[in-house]
Amino acid sequence: MQPKDPTADIAIIGGGPAGLMAAEVLAAAGHAVTVFDAKPSVGRKFLLAGKGGLNLTHSEPFEPFVARFGERATHIEPLLRSFDGDALRDWAAGLGVETFVGTSGRVFPKDLKAAPLLRAWLHRLRAAGVKFAMRHRWTGWDHDAALRFDTPDGERLVTPHATLLALGGASWPQLGSDGAWVERLAARGVDVAPLHPANCGFDVGRTAAHAEGPGWSERFATEFAGQPIKPVALETEGFANRAGEFVFTATGIEGSLVYAASSRLREQIARTGSATLHLDLLPQLAPERVLAEVKHPRGSRSLSSHLKSRLHLNPLKLGLLHELLTREQMLDPATLAAAMKHLPLTLQAPRPVAEAISTAGGVRFEALTQGLMLKALPGVFVAGEMLDWEAPTGGYLLTASMASGRAAAAGLAAWLTS
Ligand SMILES: Cc1cc2nc3c(=O)[nH]c(=O)nc-3n(C[C@H](O)[C@H](O)[C@H](O)COP(=O)(O)OP(=O)(O)OC[C@H]3O[C@@H](n4cnc5c(N)ncnc54)[C@H](O)[C@@H]3O)c2cc1C
Repeated sequence: MQPKDPTADIAIIGGGPAGLMAAEVLAAAGHAVTVFDAKPSVGRKFLLAGKGGLNLTHSEPFEPFVARFGERATHIEPLLRSFDGDALRDWAAGLGVETFVGTSGRVFPKDLKAAPLLRAWLHRLRAAGVKFAMRHRWTGWDHDAALRFDTPDGERLVTPHATLLALGGASWPQLGSDGAWVERLAARGVDVAPLHPANCGFDVGRTAAHAEGPGWSERFATEFAGQPIKPVALETEGFANRAGEFVFTATGIEGSLVYAASSRLREQIARTGSATLHLDLLPQLAPERVLAEVKHPRGSRSLSSHLKSRLHLNPLKLGLLHELLTREQMLDPATLAAAMKHLPLTLQAPRPVAEAISTAGGVRFEALTQGLMLKALPGVFVAGEMLDWEAPTGGYLLTASMASGRAAAAGLAAWLTS
């Protein structure tokens, strides 16, 4: 191993929010930092997040914020103590980007854009001396422990004093993070929890209208794929009834309410082979009222026009009932009314991780020192979504990625001077 040097050159591999945050901290501490990235430019997923308004963080108090990280909350808490939602907002303001709190408590830049923030950030990093080596795909270490990079000019070997990996998870691989690091680290004795889709969509199982399933009947998919359902409430094992909205896809469901329940649904499928959720199609109405309206004499009207006029059910909700209930169930008022308030839907698989918003699994915290250094590989630090944590959407992903980037950088700086 090379001698330690308090102002050494450092390789940060991965130029997402975690790697860039680490670069900022280390450059400020006087280190010579180079950010390597496989892509022609950094921050591609960050820019994509900007298409949805760039939900930077959440304004809720610290305790519930930390609780969003579920089983990993104890590991994430110390990272967030050093860099929480308020700190993130101050940091953005320091780059000239003011933020606001939306009605849901989520925090966004005032212009809802990622590009101006990333531009100002990169400008400040370059001014602090950070170097960028693009089109450098890290492929592992050679036998002398040099970092190996595939570049357009062939292989390049780099021997920094310390390395910080911020390679992201495995979602949206076209933006750079493909999870190829899992095998590389596992081969070096690093304990990595398998990567799974998080905040993801799901494929449905068999439906009444498509008994030979799985999947929606062709009729339902053709008519309703791409359409949002709202208002609706969803509940499943471990996920209490919550109102919101989601979207139907050609093979299943996706969108914010589904993402919120996704870790529970994924675990259920892993455990039992399928997951069942229940939908309340009329969350604003009590069950008794729904039953009374369904039972109201309908004269010569069709059942569909009766439900439309008495309960304002739109074509999508009607279509969903026809898709999931048998004819007999549709014609029995008590069963139909009960189903509108508690409609079971079976899911058979999460969509692939490549389509997910984020990734669960990654380098286990037990494989790391408190400073986020790999115990199996001294001098190699890890940050961001490649760590084994998951959280719902709401700004928690970016906040934890950035907070862990800062923590790993601090750990690295301390290791160099120790
Ligand atoms: C559609 C979408 C919308 C999102 N919206 C939000 C949001 O509004 N709010 C929120 O909090 N989160 C959001 N997220 C999640 C958030 O963007 C990620 O959690 C965050 O970007 C993770 O940061 P990271 O630095 O760990 O990894 P990444 O941002 O994935 O960066 C990893 C970097 O490593 C590079 N890399 C990977 N492998 C190699 C290699 N072998 N060699 C060299 N470089 C490599 C990649 O090119 C990439 O630049 C969204 C995600 C998606 C997909």
